[in-house]
Amino acid sequence: MSQATIQTPAPPQPLVALTEDEQLFRDSVRQFADETIRPKVHEMDEKGVFDHSILEQFFQLGLMGIEIPEQYGGAGGKFFDAILAVEEVSRVDASAGVIVDVQNTLVNNALMRWTTEEQKKRYLPKQCADTVGAYALSEAGSGSDAFAMQTRAQLKGSDYILNGRKLWITNGKEAGVFILFATIDPAAGYKGITAFIVERDFPGFSVGKKEDKLGIRASSTCELILEDCQVPKSNVLGEAGKGYKIAIETLNEGRIGIGAQMLGLARGAWEAAAKYSQERKQFGRAISDFQGVQFQLAQMATEIEAARMLVYNAARMKDAGMNFVKEAAMVKLFASQVAERVASLSLEIFGGYGFTKDYPAEKYFRDAKIGKIYEGTSNMQLQTIAKLVLGGK
Ligand SMILES: Cc1cc2nc3c(=O)[nH]c(=O)nc-3n(C[C@H](O)[C@H](O)[C@H](O)COP(=O)(O)OP(=O)(O)OC[C@H]3O[C@@H](n4cnc5c(N)ncnc54)[C@H](O)[C@@H]3O)c2cc1C
Repeated sequence: MSQATIQTPAPPQPLVALTEDEQLFRDSVRQFADETIRPKVHEMDEKGVFDHSILEQFFQLGLMGIEIPEQYGGAGGKFFDAILAVEEVSRVDASAGVIVDVQNTLVNNALMRWTTEEQKKRYLPKQCADTVGAYALSEAGSGSDAFAMQTRAQLKGSDYILNGRKLWITNGKEAGVFILFATIDPAAGYKGITAFIVERDFPGFSVGKKEDKLGIRASSTCELILEDCQVPKSNVLGEAGKGYKIAIETLNEGRIGIGAQMLGLARGAWEAAAKYSQERKQFGRAISDFQGVQFQLAQMATEIEAARMLVYNAARMKDAGMNFVKEAAMVKLFASQVAERVASLSLEIFGGYGFTKDYPAEKYFRDAKIGKIYEGTSNMQLQTIAKLVLGGK
């Protein structure tokens, strides 16, 4: 009788476990965010302008091309690394976080996945070196119903001529390259949607009004104006008429990025409140001595941990090549709810001071609100989740 050998597999790692490399990367981003971004956060928020020197350092540190292969000048990292970076930067400033997020999870991802080799050589090195990217889907009349867009592209000779306006475009002020969606055939519905790589200095392209916003004020949100804008035919991203697929698939990844932004924000708000609760004295004791305050902080910490598990798990699924559509929608839905609740309670722990601009709580509270709106509102995430869980997929 042959003897069966029992092989004991290595026990699975906890969901939130990081490799040594990931820990080192996270710690270096955390240190940069604390030392370089934090001192500028208040002023950037007040002025509504992002500090250009921080942008330059993002490029120098490799944070603007995290997943881009080394042969194109990138860091050759994983999607998970990009998620860690967005989380750590957003812990200090959600505006800085969304710049890193849009660059990596939307623009670079679309460029890596859908470009020809020639387009890769032209655009990827710039994305790593000095060019901020933006992702232009929304219009005044088409937000949740994104494919009802009016921006039109007509082929004339070797160029597409684009006419229309895009609204709410993150990084609009700083960006040099735009992944921009237009329809080549309005009668074809979503099958007319085409993605273009538009450079800022293409004739007929201009950046319009910058929004004055409640939160993430240092992140620019701009209108884009296309007036007979000439885009070479060779700048179609993927295939003409297949832009809807690019939009849907990049936004699936982007949603995990927004989840990471909201997770980072919630952590930042929690840490500020926990520290304050140990300093602030009432009734002769630190307010953190009161069980009521301890329970609030404990509840928040628990919700943050749950959000972290959803974010990390979805990012690991993406890196493993698994289908993560449902998980990405859940991440964005849940992490934005947690961020809003945590930021709100954190503000209350600061008492009256939390309501002023002298403390960081009110900014976390204002910044949290966007998590439920962009890259698909909470209702749109629920719609996706409902379809997938009820459809049995
Ligand atoms: C700061 C900021 C940055 C942004 N950055 C970008 C960017 O970089 N690129 C880009 O392309 N866009 C960007 N956007 C746009 C953003 O994605 C849209 O605002 C968002 O998708 C919602 O669209 P909307 O504003 O037109 O709202 P609407 O679609 O008009 O929705 C209004 C309300 O109706 C609800 N609703 C709509 N349809 C349904 C439905 N079928 N069922 C249930 N409820 C529904 C929504 O949930 C929402 O509560 C940004 C927006 C902001 C505010």
